[in-house]
Amino acid sequence: MHYHIEFDIAAIILTIFITYFIFYKKGLVRRANRVFLVLIGLVFVSEISDIFSSLSNNDPDSAQRWSQDIWNYIYLVAHNALAYSFTVYLFFLLDLVKKKKKELYLLTIPFIGDLFLLLINPFTGLTFYYDAQGYYKHGPLFSVMYGIAFFYMVFSIIFVIRHRKYLEQSKVKSLLAFLFISFVPVVVQMFFQEYLLTLFFETVGLLGILFSIENKEDTISPVTGMLNRFVLETALDAAMNGGGNTLILIKIANLNYYNKTIGYENMNAILGRISVWLEKQYPLYSCYDCGRGHFAILCGDVDREETETSRKKVFARFQESWSKDNLSLTFPVQFGVVRLPDDVRTVENLQMLIDEPFDGKESANLDAAETIADYERRVLVEQLIDKALKKKNFVVWYQPIWDAHTGKVHSAEALCRLQDEEYGLIPPDEFIPIAEQSGTILDIGRMVFEEVCRFYQEERLKKLGLDYIEVNLSVVQCMSSNLKEIFEEILKKYALDAGCINLEVTESATASNQKTMVETIDYLKQLGFSFSLDDYGTGYSNISYMYEMPFSIIKIDKSILWKAMDPSKGEGKKEAQIYLENTIRMLKEMGYSVLVEGVETLEQKMLLEKLECDYFQGYYFSKPVEKQVFRDYVRVVNA
Ligand code: C2E
Ligand code: CA
Ligand code: CA
Repeated sequence: MHYHIEFDIAAIILTIFITYFIFYKKGLVRRANRVFLVLIGLVFVSEISDIFSSLSNNDPDSAQRWSQDIWNYIYLVAHNALAYSFTVYLFFLLDLVKKKKKELYLLTIPFIGDLFLLLINPFTGLTFYYDAQGYYKHGPLFSVMYGIAFFYMVFSIIFVIRHRKYLEQSKVKSLLAFLFISFVPVVVQMFFQEYLLTLFFETVGLLGILFSIENKEDTISPVTGMLNRFVLETALDAAMNGGGNTLILIKIANLNYYNKTIGYENMNAILGRISVWLEKQYPLYSCYDCGRGHFAILCGDVDREETETSRKKVFARFQESWSKDNLSLTFPVQFGVVRLPDDVRTVENLQMLIDEPFDGKESANLDAAETIADYERRVLVEQLIDKALKKKNFVVWYQPIWDAHTGKVHSAEALCRLQDEEYGLIPPDEFIPIAEQSGTILDIGRMVFEEVCRFYQEERLKKLGLDYIEVNLSVVQCMSSNLKEIFEEILKKYALDAGCINLEVTESATASNQKTMVETIDYLKQLGFSFSLDDYGTGYSNISYMYEMPFSIIKIDKSILWKAMDPSKGEGKKEAQIYLENTIRMLKEMGYSVLVEGVETLEQKMLLEKLECDYFQGYYFSKPVEKQVFRDYVRVVNA
């Protein structure tokens, strides 16, 4: 048989083109891409060895037996490895390496079978042998190797179809098309062995994959043309394991704000300029655009002096403005140096450092240790919340609210406390925002509501002169659609009517302009709940919303009172007093009852009495206390 090597030569030319293309365009560094490089390498080795083995098989007389042997073995190993590596590539491409580890391990077995056959071939001639004239001949088990290659192909096709949801549809289609392209010549060559078609078609298939799947958009940020976050991730994996690396982080504050004010297009142009400047500053290192105006530069083992110079340069440049046409803007920027892996320890911390937004008004340094400590505390508190919900470690304390007209306790605010056996008391200012972010506030809110209802009913608080208890309602609760059902169900359970609960909604919540929120509050109002507007004077007062919502009481924030009458000095700013006085008067004229929080001193109380405030709440009367203490207190003062 005379082998034709023309197709192999064409295949080599294609392979060289692919290789050039990969290295010419930067950024083929995702893990899947690395496996893709392995595929290209194997194809190349197969092509070269196929040519040399074919030449020596065509003319065994002039070839040395050992070289004929070497080329044949190299070809068979490389080409079988190619089929196996292609399936591995699919696992990486679909990001299923971790999820389907076992399957991936099992898939090595057929390939090991290939290797075993080749290993014993010199003694058995089962896969190939040379006849008396030295011509290359297939042995009885050669078809087993075909069978294995066939298995890998069929497996790949099924695998792609089964997991098509992990990939865009167009990519799935091209993968299948390319599998098919490389599949046909294998069958052809089974019958016409002298035409070495397979490698050529496989290379064409890889070329197609390169263009349709391994494309630039996956690795390059469309805004700045820098390597993207995706690529950084892979680079960071290596940097974390290798050690002795430095990551410089540069973050622009409040990108969203600028996008909105000057428009995406202008802002993108400016980001483009920033990226050009950065790449010029760091010609030796890779710069990454992590999105949201966050940039990262991965440097090797640079010393402090170098990072300091770099810090100064960045701050100096950002003091000046960036311009696009006649727009000219300056941005506060955050600069951070992170030593890998010492400063971060875990990949999770590192990700957080990269993504944590910077919202400073002035340029600042990023303190990695502090940011990580904050983050770890947040994660801890999240865990403590989960634990507390399970173990019922939340308790509700009560702070009396005084009626200025009768001089008696008129109601109380229910305030939640998290008491952990190991970490002690976690203040609500700390855990409530975290619970709002994680959604556990819904469970906490329900628990507080039920606890308050139980307490109100068991202690017959109505008889003690308490008209209602005030319960804080988080925005997140207001936006949940089943809040009303939950409240209704609990009221029913304790045979209470909604009048015994007054719900406090914060001012910032009313500004958030949520349809669900207005609807929920309307519905709750119909059920008979009354409402207070909390923290008045701190948020963005959205007057139109205030009118739309059924508030009966406005709670003026303690900061307003304290400016008018500082509790430690016993006096305050004249302007702040005028503001307080007029605010109270205005709200009362509008028909609201007015409550002032944070009353700590007698002077403050007297001032508020003069201003005809309706209700007081504050340490001067009582701090929030446990429910039994509160009950006993009310029994005494309301007697
Ligand atoms: P808030 O609703 O403004 O509650 C009033 C806070 O001011 C309480 O802090 C109370 O202890 C404190 N306070 C009252 N009088 C004085 C005073 O005279 N001086 C000073 N310095 N502070 C005073 P607390 O209990 O630490 O609660 C903090 C915040 O946590 C609350 O602010 C509220 O927004 C939130 N919160 C507490 N419990 C709950 C809850 O069950 N659900 C929701 N959604 N939020 C809650
Ligand atoms: Ca409140
Ligand atoms: Ca308040």
